[in-house]
Amino acid sequence: MQKKQNNNSLSFSESVNRMVDRAISAIGLDPGVANAIKTCQTLVQVKFPVQIRDKIEIFTGWRAVHSTHRLPAKGGIRYAPIVNQDEVEALAALMTYKCAIVDVPFGGSKGGLVIDPSKYTRDELQTITRRFARELIRRGVLSPATNVPAPDMGTGEREMAWIADTYKHLHPEDINYAACVTGKPVAHGGIRGRVEATGRGVVYCMREFFRHPNDIKSAGLDGGLGGKRIVLQGLGNVGYHTGVLLDEEDEAKIVAIIEKDGALINENGLPVEKVRQYITENKTIKGFPDATYVKDGKRVLEMECDILIPAAMEAQITKENAENIKTKLIIEAANGPITFEADEILRKKPITILPDAFVNAGGVTVSYFEWIRNLSHIRFGRMEKRFDELRGQHMITAIESLTQQSAPDWIRDEIIRGADELDLVRSGLDDTMRLAYREISAARNENVKIKDFRTAAYVVAINKIARSYLDIGVY
Ligand code: NAD
Repeated sequence: MQKKQNNNSLSFSESVNRMVDRAISAIGLDPGVANAIKTCQTLVQVKFPVQIRDKIEIFTGWRAVHSTHRLPAKGGIRYAPIVNQDEVEALAALMTYKCAIVDVPFGGSKGGLVIDPSKYTRDELQTITRRFARELIRRGVLSPATNVPAPDMGTGEREMAWIADTYKHLHPEDINYAACVTGKPVAHGGIRGRVEATGRGVVYCMREFFRHPNDIKSAGLDGGLGGKRIVLQGLGNVGYHTGVLLDEEDEAKIVAIIEKDGALINENGLPVEKVRQYITENKTIKGFPDATYVKDGKRVLEMECDILIPAAMEAQITKENAENIKTKLIIEAANGPITFEADEILRKKPITILPDAFVNAGGVTVSYFEWIRNLSHIRFGRMEKRFDELRGQHMITAIESLTQQSAPDWIRDEIIRGADELDLVRSGLDDTMRLAYREISAARNENVKIKDFRTAAYVVAINKIARSYLDIGVY
């Protein structure tokens, strides 16, 4: 089923495929291999009853497995009232390309459940989630070896813990049961830094962009991230962590925040942490002090700014508003925020787009670290932290005795400190985003047919996936 958007626009999965086709044509890939890469391999639909407040309700969910050239297949589970099969297939495809871009050895998958989580109590959500997990496990699309979900819109650590516990009860003999899902709470086998990983990855990718003078210049920008005027859409998991880091560490100015019930504008910059606190307390963005409130939030996407970060959901920039977008750089923190038709319009404008399949790959990257941690049954840094500290202590002692001078306290502390799990996760994530950016930037510079970062990112992904098909063959 290919659900069209309004006005006969392309569906989400058609939109992704059309963007991928540009890359396929740029490298002249064999059509058979191209089709094998683009086809969603398995789609499981489940419908199951759950008794809620003396009434039986039927829930509908999907798990799409787009690719299995690497196993397990990996991808989040989304809870939303408007989830549909096409969306799940499109998001599963994005996962295939995303994992390849950041060299995470997984296939691509995605799941969705049609539900408005705000209408159910915690206990009801637990019953529904556990039942959904059982349906997926029974059909072979949830296990540490074959298919590993993670959080996405509407789900978080809590749901992942329920899923892991359900799997453990059904497969107590599986010593790797904790690796059946990522994004779990740390106390239940999760990894430090996973909750913030996608937002942090977005910021690492932006910092890397600003280390490349030619890319900065071709985007019509100059200088670094500091002081740049940024419009941010969505203050959920991804948007909030992106915004806080930009606001506090990079000293960028978030001049507008767009949420589902309107937008806030302040040219002097908005304090992201305080806005989020306000939303949590008041359940709305409206009324936040020291900012102009705009009811029609979507119009604020069209505001003149240096960087626009859509971090809410898909299809926010469409053929209806693409012509009015006035930013210089778009950072696609959400999945599919720009439709194919809008992308065609934006390509004719002096706007640089860093694509979703790369920008928001921080989540799956740290999920990969969590999966490895679960399989190795040990926290990163546990074996070496004290050893490293001791070696640092010896180095300082040696330097001080050779120079006859004592090192300042801060240098001493930095050298002596051994890395803990969070340090290692952040370092691994930073390295992953930097390397991926460099590969994409190189692909863009090497092939005259490639002008944009999106096509370059898909070329990087498709070359890697095609290689795995061609090396092993198709049987
Ligand atoms: P979330 O549910 O935590 O947050 C989404 C936010 O967007 C919410 O604050 C919501 O109120 C807001 N929002 C919804 N509709 C809006 C609209 N029309 N205009 C403005 N704001 C709106 O979800 P999330 O996990 O932050 O995911 C956001 C996007 O990032 C999605 O596209 C998701 O697929 C993608 N993504 C998430 C992760 C992750 O680790 N969570 C990883 C990769 C990609």
